[in-house]
Amino acid sequence: MKKIGNRVGLVGWRGMVGSVLMDRMQAEGDFNLIDPIFFSTSNAGGAAPVIAKNETKLQDAHNISALQDCDIIITAQGGDYTTELFPKLRAAGWKGHWIDAASTLRMNKDAVIILDPINLPVIQNALIQGRNNWIGGNCTVSCMLMGVGALYKAGWVEWMSTQTYQAASGGGAQHMRELLTQYGTLYSEVKSLLDDPKSAILEIDRMVVDKQRKLSAQETENFGVPLGGSLIPWIDKDLGIGKTSNQDGWGTSREEWKGMAETNKILGQGEGFDKAATPVDGFCVRVGAMRCHSQALTFKLKKNVPLTDIEALIAADNEWVKVVPNTREATVQHLTPVAVTGTMTIPVGRIRKMAFGPEYVGAFTIGDQLLWGAAEPLRRMLRILLSQ
Ligand code: NAP
Repeated sequence: MKKIGNRVGLVGWRGMVGSVLMDRMQAEGDFNLIDPIFFSTSNAGGAAPVIAKNETKLQDAHNISALQDCDIIITAQGGDYTTELFPKLRAAGWKGHWIDAASTLRMNKDAVIILDPINLPVIQNALIQGRNNWIGGNCTVSCMLMGVGALYKAGWVEWMSTQTYQAASGGGAQHMRELLTQYGTLYSEVKSLLDDPKSAILEIDRMVVDKQRKLSAQETENFGVPLGGSLIPWIDKDLGIGKTSNQDGWGTSREEWKGMAETNKILGQGEGFDKAATPVDGFCVRVGAMRCHSQALTFKLKKNVPLTDIEALIAADNEWVKVVPNTREATVQHLTPVAVTGTMTIPVGRIRKMAFGPEYVGAFTIGDQLLWGAAEPLRRMLRILLSQ
């Protein structure tokens, strides 16, 4: 295979995913191996960040010929950008490697969903075939597979149900700001009553819900409804009744649909592969956490496997997964977004047999969705390409 050049275009580097990506690339010394070019959709000509090597100014992320100079482009800019720019760039004859955090291209036949600790053979096979579109997976799916992928690799899973608790930052920088601002607004509303230990709790409760219901369109611009002190049991688009490919007429959200579609594509099974898909379904819920996607999983295994074997298999799968003992103390200390945020660790806990029968196993897992669910697979793919 021809050596891949190291001129790397970076688009979307100041957003939520992009900032985490920059941090990780610096921490791992990736910039020592590349010649980076920084692009912007909103500030072309502005000052490039300090980690830039040659360029002092930001390039225009809509300038096809500037993008064409890159051997590799990494974008965390978002789906609208990919939809607009990617077809133009390929149509202009660009043959470089496109590494993308957005979901736009994920299910395209020629795109590979990258999560190398889980699917390195799928990536290697695609490299041999000359593929060049490398797309990061859905954050919840990637974090889940980093935790319990071993059960799939062993062929033990008959089906899996997921109930997710997804953080505000999953929506991006503006969503995170909105959540915190809402918390601040609600706190200010009842501060004087909170300061008085004798004040009536029901009065505080009434004032908070009253304020939540009266938040303005501007105060709820990103989530559409209040999230601070509440939750939203729908994430991403409404696929409509009868329009989903995995179930007919079930009113699945796009985030829920991704659970089955992407899990199977990452594992190299289902449509386009010679192995049957594993059913995956559940509910995806936005909660008022800042960062990390948490999920309660129910597995129907194909056979009755002792819990100790399940734990051992999960623990041995990769260097980041950590089995948390199923005790109250260990759970509350190690299995929360607060404990996991900013770390590469993927804890899996609450592993237990469920009341439905010996093949039914429950587990709870958490991942920092900005690391394993977004930035990390992108920079690891960069490393894989540079090592060819
Ligand atoms: P984001 O924080 O909204 O950033 C995207 C772009 O918005 C930035 O590159 C920046 O572009 C612009 N922007 C506008 N106002 C900004 C502000 N105040 N601060 C920072 N940037 C601002 O989006 P994101 O969450 O990083 O998501 C990027 C892509 O990754 C999306 O396709 C998303 O679906 C995907 N993804 C996100 C997550 C997640 O957990 N957030 C996980 C996996 C995948 P300019 O500099 O060009 O103006």
